[in-house]
Amino acid sequence: MTDVYTGLKKKLDTIKKASLYRKLLPITFTCPTHGYINGRDVLLFCTNNYLGLTHHPQVIEASIRATERFGTGAGASRLISGHSHLYEELEDTLAWFKGTEKALVFSSGYTANVGVITAMAGKNDLIFSDRLVHASIVDACILSRAEKRPFPHNDMDFLKNSILSEKANVQRLIVTEGVFSMDGDIAPLKELADISLQNDCLLMVDDAHGTGVMGEGGRGTADSLGVGKNIDIHIGTLSKAIGLVGGFVAGSRDLILYLINKARSFVYTTALPPGVIAAATTAIKLLETDPLLIKRLRSNIRLIREILVSGGVNLPPGETPIIPVLLGNERKALNISRALLENGIYIPAIRPPTVPKGMARLRVTVSAAHLETELEKTAMLLIELSRKEGIID
Ligand SMILES: *Cc1c(COP(=O)(O)O)cnc(C)c1O
Repeated sequence: MTDVYTGLKKKLDTIKKASLYRKLLPITFTCPTHGYINGRDVLLFCTNNYLGLTHHPQVIEASIRATERFGTGAGASRLISGHSHLYEELEDTLAWFKGTEKALVFSSGYTANVGVITAMAGKNDLIFSDRLVHASIVDACILSRAEKRPFPHNDMDFLKNSILSEKANVQRLIVTEGVFSMDGDIAPLKELADISLQNDCLLMVDDAHGTGVMGEGGRGTADSLGVGKNIDIHIGTLSKAIGLVGGFVAGSRDLILYLINKARSFVYTTALPPGVIAAATTAIKLLETDPLLIKRLRSNIRLIREILVSGGVNLPPGETPIIPVLLGNERKALNISRALLENGIYIPAIRPPTVPKGMARLRVTVSAAHLETELEKTAMLLIELSRKEGIID
């Protein structure tokens, strides 16, 4: 017993010595973009709450009403008695939203990836995945026991050659993301769809960060590139722009019926609470009925990018709410992040191993709920601090 704990202490010390120790920071939110940290009101540029829907009156109302009527929890897994008419309505809404035959909700984006990948690929099958995919996809690939063939980020020639050099008589799954979480760039989904079709593969796109953000009415990255119909398996989350919790899969009727039977992370877990499900349906419908939400997000992204670039900050081009301010040096990234916090703005420094060595950055995430004055103030301060650290002239 005690030995086990001394062992853990030593391991923690090693993590600390490598400057990789992580700890939790309690934040008391007062609105989508502000919270109290250590008793002080701080402006946040780090959440995935891209539309501010966590505090939307209609979403909150839907959550309260469903909780009062149907209780706080689902009481069982979906296949026992945790399914409900609220789930039916949400899944119909998601299928309509993604333009697919059917959709299926999971407890989280993480469990959606784990359930889908392990159901669709097994021993001897092949999974070709972008090197920058989310940890949940990496874990799912390991759990599936399929053979892993990662390809360099967005490198279509590499992927094509990789597919051609492999056996063709097994299930071959290509997995990528719509919007990548650390760089905010997007996958070449048109090329991927062509490669997948030509080689008889299955194409799965995790659009956690594109859902509610990209494309007409927030339908996602594939929609924005006009290839929604060419993706076999759409993954999305209800936890980012949608402002709740949960993950979903959208695709053909057969795919969904198969997953209901075979996806273990769907079968062996309790259904989400009624309040979450009802609020998610309301939130998805709001994307259509309140187009100003997405419009405001897009104009906020444009505004902060314009100020940063005209101030000399070197940004890769992009239109997503994830803006990577590359600093390279970990110490400089930490210095700027600390100085921002002293000024009441929270943008955490992202360091290796979350990003490759020499690629330390501030990851600025923009919300429709940010005010113009907040975007201006933050951009100006970032420019000033980058100058002080010698990042820009
Ligand atoms: C956040 C994220 C997930 C996990 O979603 P949760 O709903 O938070 O579990 C999966 N994939 C990608 C690409 C993500 O960014």
